[in-house]
Amino acid sequence: SECQHDSLRSNIHVIVRIRPKNFNEKGPLHRTIVRAVGEHVVIFDPKEDSSENFYYHGIKQKSRNDYTKKPHKNLKFAYDRVYGPHNTNVEIFESSMKKLVAHILDGFNCSIFAYGATGAGKTYTMLGSIEHPGLTFFMAMELYSRIKGMANEYESEIVVSYLEVYNETLRDLLHPSGILTIREDGFNGVNIPNLTMHKPKDASELLGMLSYGNSVRTQHPTDHNAESSRSHAVFQVFVSLRKRFTHKSLKYKMAKAKLVMVDLAGSERGLGPGCDSQRFREGANINKSLLALSNCINALADGKKHIPYRDSKLTRILKDTLGGNCKTVMIANLSPSLKLG
Ligand code: ADP
Ligand code: MG
Repeated sequence: SECQHDSLRSNIHVIVRIRPKNFNEKGPLHRTIVRAVGEHVVIFDPKEDSSENFYYHGIKQKSRNDYTKKPHKNLKFAYDRVYGPHNTNVEIFESSMKKLVAHILDGFNCSIFAYGATGAGKTYTMLGSIEHPGLTFFMAMELYSRIKGMANEYESEIVVSYLEVYNETLRDLLHPSGILTIREDGFNGVNIPNLTMHKPKDASELLGMLSYGNSVRTQHPTDHNAESSRSHAVFQVFVSLRKRFTHKSLKYKMAKAKLVMVDLAGSERGLGPGCDSQRFREGANINKSLLALSNCINALADGKKHIPYRDSKLTRILKDTLGGNCKTVMIANLSPSLKLG
């Protein structure tokens, strides 16, 4: 029904993040291909390549548009939220992610994905760096501090795991060993026996784990060759809360939920103007798990009954964090410009 459709929609948010131009992209051989307008609109292939005049040794150069005769399409699309080159990881966490924490503490699963072509900023967004930690770090820290604040009322436990899906095989990124398998049972849902669970004792240990895990991914995060963009890094945070027994509350109450944060494989063809806020039609064809994920999200957004979770390893792992009462945020990372010629 329409009603169900709307509630599913409100559980899947699509945000766009356009990264800053790098040194080369500021030069004359690049054309600006996307621009954020306000907090909700992205223009693909914008008409004025405003950025602004390009100076070389103090002399104004030809506009980048003079190098191409192609007309600009100037297509506008709306998203739940759009972030531009000046927005930081902290700002994105504060305005689009933090609110998921309350949902998790109420016992509902959540998932966050970074989607986009290689070089578009997925790893910067999710992992970040020592100076600019990413969303994974901020989300985990927020969960720790919220739970600490509830310690009088609740006993709690947080454990984390970090794994990679590469060529439809699973590997533990925190304890590299053999290939992992997925088990599903009606009781506990998705289960990955032998995946190691960790309890980082503070922020720096958590950051250390994340960057260690990233360093053993099948590719190096900054290596842009073909192999490099096919792995999905899946960070999971399992939270369990148990209400402390007091004379006032005789009822036993336990809440369990998980947060899954995924730095997806490169979509390569990127998010084109053919995409609307609910769909990722393009770019998903290089990778079985990425294609299956986009099929699941489209099926959920269309209110379909059958969601093809079984089609890939990634979607099997994510089965209990997508759809239903789960909240999902898809971050579409975009590069601001394209090399001419
Ligand atoms: P991806 O993981 O999608 O392949 P990266 O996250 O590795 O892309 O980003 C590519 C390059 O751009 C990296 O050098 C990264 O540090 C830089 N970068 C990405 N997003 C930002 C940003 N928002 N601010 C500053 N630098 C960024
Ligand atoms: Mg990356």
